[in-house]
Amino acid sequence: MKTEDPVKTRAEKKKTETAKIGKAKPDTIKNRPAETEKDLTNKKELALAVIERLKKAYPDADCTLEYDQAWKLLVSVRLAAQCTDARVNVVVEDLYTHYPDVNALADAPVEEIEKLVHPCGLGNSKARDISACMKMLRDTYGGQVPDDFDKLLELPGVGRKSANLIMGDVFGKPAIVTDTHCIRLCGRIGLTDGSKDPKKVEMALWKIIPPEEGNALCHRFVLHGREICTARTKPYCDKCCLQDICEKNL
Ligand code: SF4
Repeated sequence: MKTEDPVKTRAEKKKTETAKIGKAKPDTIKNRPAETEKDLTNKKELALAVIERLKKAYPDADCTLEYDQAWKLLVSVRLAAQCTDARVNVVVEDLYTHYPDVNALADAPVEEIEKLVHPCGLGNSKARDISACMKMLRDTYGGQVPDDFDKLLELPGVGRKSANLIMGDVFGKPAIVTDTHCIRLCGRIGLTDGSKDPKKVEMALWKIIPPEEGNALCHRFVLHGREICTARTKPYCDKCCLQDICEKNL
């Protein structure tokens, strides 16, 4: 019995939908509901296909920030804002030689931290956040990183992206890390409506991605975003394992 090719079917459906939209009157498009149950079901199916393909393409995807203790990941993720993970990994080596634990970093003068993290850019604000964050870990949590999303959000310099990263990578809990790669790829692939707002993207992804898959998927988005679906005007769609299911490429 001939089975239906789900990928081909999606591509064909997309062409048909595009053709219909092309013929629709402008006000019909304008009044189209934002998201129907069917849209959500389609996105869930698409998400599962994306997850499976990226698993095959990047079986060992993991965080590219190097750390051996939870507090170090907190430091690194703050330093990684507008800086490459590779540079952060080099800079923290020197930082930890001077200040090897939470107490030492909490006691360190902010100006000294700033000198050491300067190569990561935004040295002043990053140093202030790291100092305040380490003080709070020391004074409120006995030097431990809390395994609670809301408590993580209260730490200086920690936003939703960082809190999710800690929850997923350190504590193995469901997490969706909406960094620049995740946001760009999800918009292009058609998993989101193209929003650039990290929280909106996160909330949209929670609706369609199995929770246990979120963390690893986001790490895979980073690798795919660096290698194939780059931020350049023209990503390498011809080399992409998602080319026949990606909305941008259909
Ligand atoms: S097909 Fe192109 S736009 Fe879509 S995910 Fe792949 S590289 Fe990105």
